[in-house]
Amino acid sequence: MAVSPLIAYPTDARVSSPLKQRQVSTVPSSSNGTPSLPLPLLLPGPGLGGRPMHQMVPQQSHTLDIVEQMNEEEKRKYVKGKKLGEGTYANVYLGHARNNPNEFVAIKKIKVQKEYKDGLAPDAVRELKHLQELHHPNIISLISVFSSKDQNLNLVLEYLPLGDLEMLIRDVDRVRYGAGDIKAWMGMLTRAVWFCHDNFVLHRDIKPNNLLIAANGEVKLADFGLARSFADPGRKMTANVITRWYRPPELLFGARHYSGAVDVWSVGLVFAELVMRAPFLPGNSEVEQIALICKLIGTPTEENWPGVTQLKEYTVPSDIVPVWPKEAYMGRFGAVGSEGVDLLIRTLVLDPKKRITAREMLEHKWWRTDPKPTRKEDLPRKSGGGSAEKAAADLKRRPGMLDGDENGNNRGTKVARKLDFGAAK
Ligand code: AMP
Repeated sequence: MAVSPLIAYPTDARVSSPLKQRQVSTVPSSSNGTPSLPLPLLLPGPGLGGRPMHQMVPQQSHTLDIVEQMNEEEKRKYVKGKKLGEGTYANVYLGHARNNPNEFVAIKKIKVQKEYKDGLAPDAVRELKHLQELHHPNIISLISVFSSKDQNLNLVLEYLPLGDLEMLIRDVDRVRYGAGDIKAWMGMLTRAVWFCHDNFVLHRDIKPNNLLIAANGEVKLADFGLARSFADPGRKMTANVITRWYRPPELLFGARHYSGAVDVWSVGLVFAELVMRAPFLPGNSEVEQIALICKLIGTPTEENWPGVTQLKEYTVPSDIVPVWPKEAYMGRFGAVGSEGVDLLIRTLVLDPKKRITAREMLEHKWWRTDPKPTRKEDLPRKSGGGSAEKAAADLKRRPGMLDGDENGNNRGTKVARKLDFGAAK
């Protein structure tokens, strides 16, 4: 029998700053509302919340000397190599420890953007803030932070050489996987999301492309650029988060108060996509996204979701589709068994208040039914993966692109379903 992945916090999970030990109490804190960042970030210059040297009184410039020295030391520990990828606010490079060329890291160099106060995009601040606080085997680790000469901020992250879950899902010709593999990946994802929610953090951009794979096969939730804390339930939040295909109906209807249920919906859609090997709800616009939800899951109405019609942007197609029962999902998703389908439909409940939570997901029966989750070292890997060199070359391609496609247009097209559920694991 498989065991529930709900385990006590792993021994290496903690919520504290990896940089704490480097904080020195003499460093002046920012008075302009800039988040109080650990030492390597409190550096002079417009980009980093510090002040130009000429404005410093002598003690402060002395403090800054120490800060600069520590920053230099931190920076010198790493050698930056080739570019691995590009995000909206950062370029990511392969790097290694200066004293050990085999100790790889990913260096995420945040572009200074003049339009933002202090030159830092809010996404970068969010990513830094949350990664400093969340330590879990299934969440990407922040190893260090330093600023470079040009005032750019560099996040040193653990290097995850085996691509992301999207690459595996899309590579139908070369990557075969079965129900035990899906269960292992889903367990790792669900534990990461549970850990975030347990620490009052919403990720708000869960999708296969943000689930990177470590050399040991472990899946790591990455890209915390849209994350935020939700400790204060009264505060309004933006509805404009989560990549459209993975965005829940409450956000599509403009809800400004929401919960971890938004991430759970995305987790459900990653689950569906792992089984189908194609996105389940690939809407080309918000209107089409809502139409797809109504058609394939059911139309949100006052009956199944009290209060939904009061949401600011509530509009649904006039043909009301009743919520589909479990049997309707069995044909398409039956490969993960009846319990797997039960879990899937609980993540895709329209009313966020009735949707399963990440914790409840981990207590679901599916984890205890056969097949067992595959051991991480036995999980399928992207073909040809292995060496850091090869991985770096592979990572150069744009995320989400299929091999041989330069423009990524085929992202949402139907991919033949190729599951290998017979494989003994
Ligand atoms: P991001 O801005 O986090 O979306 O990163 C952009 C791209 O860089 C990703 O799609 C990956 O291809 C690559 N990347 C980001 N972080 C890492 C990492 N820790 N290890 C390896 N590649 C990474």
